[in-house]
Amino acid sequence: MSGPAERRSWRDNDGVSALRRLSEALDAFASAAAARDARENDPADAEPSAAAAELPLQNLPAHVLFARFWEERRATYLARRARRECPVCGTPPAATWFETQDGYRYVICPACQMVFIPEFLPPSAWDDYYAAIPDARDHLRRQLDASLSDEAVVRDRDRFGRYLAALRGHGAALVGARLQDIGNSTGPMLQVATEHGMAASDVEGLAEAV
Ligand SMILES: [Zn+2]
Repeated sequence: MSGPAERRSWRDNDGVSALRRLSEALDAFASAAAARDARENDPADAEPSAAAAELPLQNLPAHVLFARFWEERRATYLARRARRECPVCGTPPAATWFETQDGYRYVICPACQMVFIPEFLPPSAWDDYYAAIPDARDHLRRQLDASLSDEAVVRDRDRFGRYLAALRGHGAALVGARLQDIGNSTGPMLQVATEHGMAASDVEGLAEAV
């Protein structure tokens, strides 16, 4: 794929509309898959179940809304980007692995294979961003509040439980193991890991989430 069309991305309302359609299609796909699973398990229960969605992105429409807020102000905040070496071993960043739609480049450390973003927005810039845009902050707070609901806890227990089951399947002993999560938002992974007997801790830089 090449040409000006792919350059339009988030700046373009058509691009945002396309993402919204994609998110709706993914939601429909997830519901259909859940309904199929329900039929296979119990033919009498053919209703779609939103809780059974298997998608890694829990709420794509919410991400699209965040992208809209970001697009309105991103030039101001991207000017505050800082640069860093590999956060694990200090090796200078290698060539770009890929670039995200919203302008961040990812690299793989040539020394230790850590995947990281060498030009990043410091947490203080994010705090200023949410303080300056009430709509974005309110949306963030709703997201964070929702992440603490009983429904979200059940969903996270299912999702993260699958990740931990995969680790166990590869021979990892979870009980008593230490887990360090970085950027865990309101902490659902900590809760689930603790329920599996792990000693979990987290570093979170976003003031609202803390
Ligand atoms: Zn490294």
